[in-house]
Formats: sequence, structure tokens, C-alpha cells
Amino acid sequence: MIIASNFKTNHTRKSTREFITQINNFVKNNSLDVQVRIYPALTALDSFECEKSIKIGAQNFYPTCKGSFTGEIGFEQLEEFGVDSVLIGHSERRHILKENNELLVKKFNFAKEQGVEILYCVGEPKEVREKGIDAVMAYILGQFDGIDLDYKRLVIAYEPVWAIGTGLTASNNDIKEVLKRLKVNIQKPLLYGGSVQVDNVGDILNIKNCDGVLIGTASWEKENFCKIIDTAQKIRRVKL
Ligand code: PEP
Repeated sequence: MIIASNFKTNHTRKSTREFITQINNFVKNNSLDVQVRIYPALTALDSFECEKSIKIGAQNFYPTCKGSFTGEIGFEQLEEFGVDSVLIGHSERRHILKENNELLVKKFNFAKEQGVEILYCVGEPKEVREKGIDAVMAYILGQFDGIDLDYKRLVIAYEPVWAIGTGLTASNNDIKEVLKRLKVNIQKPLLYGGSVQVDNVGDILNIKNCDGVLIGTASWEKENFCKIIDTAQKIRRVKL
């Protein structure tokens, strides 16, 4: 089970360090083994001493080791901090930063060559959801064009665009249906993301085929994130 926190454009270097230290202590002191991922702002990356089950990843990178790509960050800079997990295809990068499929495939292939864990995000906008489940699946499956679904270190996050940062969560039935249909084609861990909260994470993690959650807003407070990890750990014990 994977519990991932996407900081987006939040937290400073100082508060990121405090956050990671507290989460690490919580995991260590309670001997938790649920997998935790934290994706801080790139400026807050550093060499953090963490338990094995915790990875600090990158929200973004340019598909290069180094070079002339003003404002971008390459793998030489990520490797300096031992980054071993990256996000690709987050809806904010697709829709706000206008990353198209061609660039996403380039990023995916580059990260794959580096052998890092890839958390690849997919999800439909509201107008597609309104057309029903077949349209949703056609849209999501299209987002896998050019993506190697056999890559060993691939994790998928299903995040309906209309549910991200809006306070609207997909219904448990909708999540269940999409994850069930994805599982037919993809034998990889499947996460859900989209306004996951402390008080609904338990129900979501109990959905069949749900292997974890990717969380923005509700994960930015240390206490909340600890509660979410704790809930996940309890559910994991029952599921085992
Ligand atoms: C996200 O950033 O991937 C996300 C799901 O955000 P939020 O939890 O705020 O909807």
C-alpha cells in the first residue's frame, strides 16, 4: 500500500525538513511499514535520512541528465539527492503547464532508462465523466499511449481532474469501477487521488483494487498526514 503526498507549490525548505523529520519519526517510532512517498517542491529537495519505506521524490524533471534547458531540472540534479521516484502526467502539468502526450512519453522513457519508480497519473475531465464510464475509460486508456505498462517500477494514480483540489471526491462506486477496469489491462499498483481527506481515506483504501492514495491538500499538515498513514497501516494489516 502506497500513501503519497504531493506538496505542489507549498512548503519552504525549512517546513519541508520539519515535515519529513516528523513523518519519519512517526513511521519509525510506530514500526510502520506502509510505503510512504513525499514529493516536495524541487527547491526543498535535500539528502534526507529516512526509513526504508519512505521515499522522497520529484514532482517534475526535464528528460535530460543535464544541458541547456533554462529553468528546468535534470537527473544529475535529482541524483545528487538520491531521488528514486518521480511523478509524471499530473493533471496540473497536463492542463495548466500544457504538457502533451509526446513530452510525457519522453519523460516516461527517460525516467525508465534511469530505473526510478514512476508514479504515472491519469484521469478524465468533468465533461468526459458526464458522458459515462465507457467515455471515461476510453479517455484514460488513451493517456497510456506510448507508455510501457510492463515497466517494473510503474505505479498508476487514477485522479479525476474535476476532483483534484476541489473538495469533490469521486464516489466509491465510480472509483471501484474505474480501478476494476484498469486492473484488466494493467497489473500494477493502482492509487486513487482527488480530494482524499483524513475522514474518507479509510473507505477509499478499502475499495477493491485500490493499492493506495495520492494526496495534495489534506496531506500538507503533518498531523493529518500521520493520521492518514496510520489509517492505511491498519487497513493494510487487515488486508494481509
Ligand atoms: C493531487 O495533487 O494529486 C491531488 C489529488 O490533490 P488534492 O488531494 O488536493 O485533490
